[in-house]
Amino acid sequence: MLPAERLRDSLRRIDRKGYKAYKDIQGAYDFGAYLLSIDHAQGDPFASPSRVSLRTARDKSCFPETLSCSRPRKTALQDYLTRSFSSAAYKIAKGNRGIGTSGLIQIDRCGQEILERSSCCVTDEYVEVRFVMGLPASGRTILGREAEEMFFGELPRIFEGSLLYKNLNASEIALHVETAEDQDCIRENLREKKVVAFAAQGSLLPRNSGVDDRPMAPFAGFRAEDSGGISPGGELPTGVVPFQTPESLKIEFDTPNNGLVTGMGIPEGITIIVGGGFHGKSTLLKALERGVYNHIPGDGREFVVTREDAVKIRAEDGRSISGVDISPFINNLPFGKDTSSFSTQNASGSTSQAANIMEALEMGSKLLLIDEDTSATNFMIRDQRMQALVPKESEPITSFIDRARQLNDEHGVSTILVMGGSGDYFDVADTVIQMDSYRPLDVTTGARELAGRFKERRAKEGGERFGDVAHRCPLPQSFDATRSQTREDKSQDGGRKGPQARRERQKVSAKDTHTLVYGRAAVNLSSLEQLVDVSQTRAIGDAIRYAAGRIMDGRTTLKEVIDILYEEMEKKGLDVLFPPKVGNLALPRPFELAAAINRMRTLKTKQQSIS
Ligand code: ADP
Ligand code: MG
Repeated sequence: MLPAERLRDSLRRIDRKGYKAYKDIQGAYDFGAYLLSIDHAQGDPFASPSRVSLRTARDKSCFPETLSCSRPRKTALQDYLTRSFSSAAYKIAKGNRGIGTSGLIQIDRCGQEILERSSCCVTDEYVEVRFVMGLPASGRTILGREAEEMFFGELPRIFEGSLLYKNLNASEIALHVETAEDQDCIRENLREKKVVAFAAQGSLLPRNSGVDDRPMAPFAGFRAEDSGGISPGGELPTGVVPFQTPESLKIEFDTPNNGLVTGMGIPEGITIIVGGGFHGKSTLLKALERGVYNHIPGDGREFVVTREDAVKIRAEDGRSISGVDISPFINNLPFGKDTSSFSTQNASGSTSQAANIMEALEMGSKLLLIDEDTSATNFMIRDQRMQALVPKESEPITSFIDRARQLNDEHGVSTILVMGGSGDYFDVADTVIQMDSYRPLDVTTGARELAGRFKERRAKEGGERFGDVAHRCPLPQSFDATRSQTREDKSQDGGRKGPQARRERQKVSAKDTHTLVYGRAAVNLSSLEQLVDVSQTRAIGDAIRYAAGRIMDGRTTLKEVIDILYEEMEKKGLDVLFPPKVGNLALPRPFELAAAINRMRTLKTKQQSIS
């Protein structure tokens, strides 16, 4: 640990030198109120910006212990501090101080969800934030004075504006933390009430646009207190219909901070969401998909809560599949292709949807979310006329309608299904919700009557039992992260050989939320609708590399591998993934991690004995 003035001295000394001299400032410095650690200095002004962390003692930052006394509270506080550092840096950092990233001060960006991130770490002793800085240069020449301005002018102000409790909005922080705690509390109590999902009265489900996850049109802070009535006053933008609860599905949760929260509970079993086109069916399902995460106050979905193991299922033609038992849904393929261990580099709509379901079950999901908009029609339904024309012997697919009930009876798996197009599903539904001009109605009784009146004449197909779910063991050699060595790499390695050079040639990164780059391959994750943040995708990449190197042995099942990994992350945090402290990882769910592995075209698996 060096005194801060030593950093100033170094910056003056290296001023106007070649860019590489920035390596000299790596190390830890005592700024009095905080410790600043320059963990990695970038090699040139256009490379990824330098990694910096800042740590301040709890007795200096003065956050009350109650803000971090439990896991959900601590995660929410960390999330809040990441956001407050981010907005302070945005306001205070001058930014452009030369070429490339010069002048940048930036922490991981947060969206509408509250995720566990490596950008901020609160312990009983300290608060630490990790961020990046672009060290200033003109050409390849160090601009030491500019850097000095960043470290001694801007950073202390960003610190004071974002990490000292006395300078922050205490009631806003409390709301952030308490809202998250209430969501966790509701999620934990869903099982006790035998519901799989909950949407509070007054919630605002529609989003600004298909590419903007913020609530439709800006509105002044939605709060649970405001949502007791159908129309919570004049604050809402016109056109947005707040969520209403049908009387028969009304339940309430006693939350630690918001008292009784009332809303619609979706019971366990099979629920069909029906209604005319454009009446809000998909919007409801999308909100439920995201309900596996906590949301920030003002999102409009902060009390839309879904069981943590809910998995969105959709058709995804073109994906690869490795050794999945899809035989409950697909059998008798042309040329006798085996479907109990099915592999392909190019799945069809129905085989991909079948694999998506089997893989979710393999990971232990007990709640499937399906939207007709993104499903393969032949996977969802085969009606009476089609059964008459094409005999079952010539149809490999057993459609979901014949398996939904069995999945529930044999495996305790519930389904929420948006299905405006086929009333045949009334026969298997426990609950039918109709969306009518964005308002849900419980039409279960009516639907049952209709099902009785128009007696089903389609024959049940596929036999009486769903059967077991097979487990697969991923083979570690499927996950080679090295990219082919280019001529440039060779010269950079400077003739170095062995593990060091090899590690440097490995490449795992996230191009965007839905594109993972793993070695030479780009893994397409665009169908993972519950993957919400590019930092989760980065963590998935690192997690795959970690698990392949340390956990997978060809005999451990995918589910076991992922369980072991999450146990380790539970103990040591996201830092186990990539030892040098990086601030741009966010915790993915086990389901999305497994889904990414399942989509790697190099994946080889061996099926294990049946569970
Ligand atoms: P469906 O799936 O029934 O065809 P969508 O859920 O796609 O309908 O919704 C249709 C449109 O209505 C979307 O543009 C959506 O943003 C909007 N919408 C959904 N719910 C609401 C609501 N509660 N208030 C206002 N607009 C809404
Ligand atoms: Mg729709």
